Amino acid sequence: MDPRQSRGHNILLVEDNPGDVRLTQEAFKEGKKKVNLEVVMDGIEALRYLNKEGEYAECPTPDLILLDLNLPKWDGRQVLKAIKSDKKLRSIPVLVLTTSNAEHDVINSYDLHANCFINKPVDFDSFFMIIQQIEAFWLKTTILPTSVG
Ligand SMILES: [Mg+2]
Repeated sequence: MDPRQSRGHNILLVEDNPGDVRLTQEAFKEGKKKVNLEVVMDGIEALRYLNKEGEYAECPTPDLILLDLNLPKWDGRQVLKAIKSDKKLRSIPVLVLTTSNAEHDVINSYDLHANCFINKPVDFDSFFMIIQQIEAFWLKTTILPTSVG
């Protein structure tokens, strides 16, 4: 049995907008999969979390990262670059979830090895649907690197 079925998936949400954090938490709660959603609100904290620094020493390596692009301190682009150039971290799928749909953000994110780019919808229902689709695809359909070996 996949150990994740009992312990659930660990997802790191890097998001500075409290409204979006709340929506994401609620949407995953509605879902069928058990999700432990950890939240950090800027890019520096994201890297500290992933490198298990300080208070994050005992935190699990996430199965999946949801990354906003526009963040205080280090922005999402810098975070993405740091993750994907780190041998220990680069296999974790990073889903860019942003209100930006600017062409250069799309191109640049994939260039930095984002695993997908999702335009964050502004209305509640569409946002919920996106999270459901993330759950269905990334937590049910795919085999994540953390579930093997
Ligand atoms: Mg933001």
